[in-house]
Amino acid sequence: LFLSFEGGDGAGKSTQARLLGDWLTSLGREVVLTREPGGTELGVLLRDAVLHGDHVDARTEALIYATDRAHHVASLVRPALARGAVVVTDRYLDSSVAYQGSGRDLGADEVERLSLWAVDGLLPAVTVLLDLDPVAGKARLTGDPDRLERAGDDFHRRTREAFLGRAAAEPARWLVLDATRPVDELAAAVRDRVAPLLGV
Ligand code: C5P
Repeated sequence: LFLSFEGGDGAGKSTQARLLGDWLTSLGREVVLTREPGGTELGVLLRDAVLHGDHVDARTEALIYATDRAHHVASLVRPALARGAVVVTDRYLDSSVAYQGSGRDLGADEVERLSLWAVDGLLPAVTVLLDLDPVAGKARLTGDPDRLERAGDDFHRRTREAFLGRAAAEPARWLVLDATRPVDELAAAVRDRVAPLLGV
């Protein structure tokens, strides 16, 4: 079973991914908790390049994410799924479609094609969107902002709209939650959505 979390910076994706992972583990499932960019050793190098590199233009950025994702899926996600593990990823290809496709204006359709090619069509069974106003998300962040977190408010607004648009167009895969709700309520909503897929 393959599950992803999406949403802007500061929406609580990693917290919810961890809570879902804890619950799945308590059910006796093998859980692989991972992230993009940077879910593998090569991915960590690519993450550093894309977040802190100089002169990374939009196409280069899109290709680095696609490279990270192709390697992540081939080396970690697919083998885990093949042995029956549940894979929970903090960001997946919907982030690229939203950030590079709509945020950077490369075109959502083209970035989606590139992304699907990179992973040979692998999509999550459920994608949880933790929806949050980007200004509120920024206020929740701690530490130094990376290159992308410093991008303008317009960029982050376009990205948010792109996530919501994708979710509306494909409701069978998406669960959209208001990220301002309490952490435990959000976790319960996620569990309710995933439980039937596990037969629990
Ligand atoms: O969620 P995480 O902190 O790993 O994301 C790292 C940064 O990369 C964030 O600033 C996020 O907005 C950005 N990002 C992006 N395009 C993606 C994935 C993440 O711009 N496809």
